[in-house]
Amino acid sequence: MANPTLLILAGDGIGPEVMAQVTRVIDWFGAKRDLAFDVENDLVGGAAYDAHGTPLHDDTMARALEVDAVLLGAVGGPKYDDLDFSVKPERGLLRLRKEMDLFSNLRPAQCFDALADFSSLKKDVVAGLDIMIVRELTSGVYFGEPRGIFEEGNERVGINTQRYTESEIDRVARSAFELAKRRGNKVCSMEKANVMESGILWREVVQRVHDADYPEVELSHMYADNGAMQLVRAPKQFDVILTDNLFGDILSDCAAMLTGSLGMLPSASLGAPNAEGRPKALYEPVHGSAPDIAGQGKANPIACMLSFAMALRYSFDQGDEATRLEAAVEKVLADGARTADLMGPDDGAPISTTEMGDAILAALDASL
Ligand code: NAD
Repeated sequence: MANPTLLILAGDGIGPEVMAQVTRVIDWFGAKRDLAFDVENDLVGGAAYDAHGTPLHDDTMARALEVDAVLLGAVGGPKYDDLDFSVKPERGLLRLRKEMDLFSNLRPAQCFDALADFSSLKKDVVAGLDIMIVRELTSGVYFGEPRGIFEEGNERVGINTQRYTESEIDRVARSAFELAKRRGNKVCSMEKANVMESGILWREVVQRVHDADYPEVELSHMYADNGAMQLVRAPKQFDVILTDNLFGDILSDCAAMLTGSLGMLPSASLGAPNAEGRPKALYEPVHGSAPDIAGQGKANPIACMLSFAMALRYSFDQGDEATRLEAAVEKVLADGARTADLMGPDDGAPISTTEMGDAILAALDASL
């Protein structure tokens, strides 16, 4: 059988630095676990603009639609701040998300025990936390029409429209249920059905998809404002949280910060499954290009590493190998390895990006 294909777009700033460590890990899986990938590297963001005058070349876009998964570092930086909006680095990323039709955004919030002190919540509330927020990414109030600022009488009115079709709700609900089956088998769907018609339809369609095709998954519904409270009160009650674009934007940032550092947070954006059941997929750390530390060997590669672990699990059906990589990360943290972002003022000297890569590779070797 042909090797699975992976397109790596390292991007700008710390993107190439963290991706270099992930590439070592990808090679490790090829050499030690008989799990070889056909990897292609290409440009995105400012790097693509420098080479081609566009933040995403058409050929790169075409490859992204063909490969089994795309792994992206980060885009952007002060060098590109004055570019025209149409060629800004972020446009490359937005084009990928749009043309791949990535409607399901997965943001895990996982708290490694060794980092529980970094959370602003009490240690026992977050230690061992492992939840996943599934956010609808391509519709809802950020896209609905009418939108704009209009004259109304003698003043102006700002309008955005929350709009969801049944099929849009249906497909993201399926993606949450599929995910739950590979995790704790529980979905909590969040909307505001008490005050919004789109929320009533959301609840109805999610329940219908559940009853028809996923009765074995435990489903509950919660108003999104209560969901926000529960996330900071007792986050471990959740497994998968399913929600719309707007509430997901807010709830996923809230959940992410339960766990501490931006350098630890992976994400995935998934589209429709192909004939083999494999969804179009883009994996990327939540953080940006961190121009303040780029080129200094200070970046934490773990967010990008954990994004690759998500690719192993959700694109390549290698859940055990994903767990192996996550366990290796957990072990190096438990052993005290810390990049600068994971350190308090009295914690001694941090290790470099490459040294963190070395430690994770050593932990992977030790796992055999
Ligand atoms: P950022 O995420 O790049 O950095 C915020 C802070 O977190 C910085 O102090 C940075 O040093 C630190 N940080 C981020 N990732 C880290 C890591 N892996 N290890 C250690 N420290 C880390 O956000 P920003 O500063 O607001 O944006 C910088 C640039 O990145 C901008 O051009 C922005 O548009 C872009 N951006 C890109 C993405 C993306 O590619 N998905 C996301 C957010 C921001």
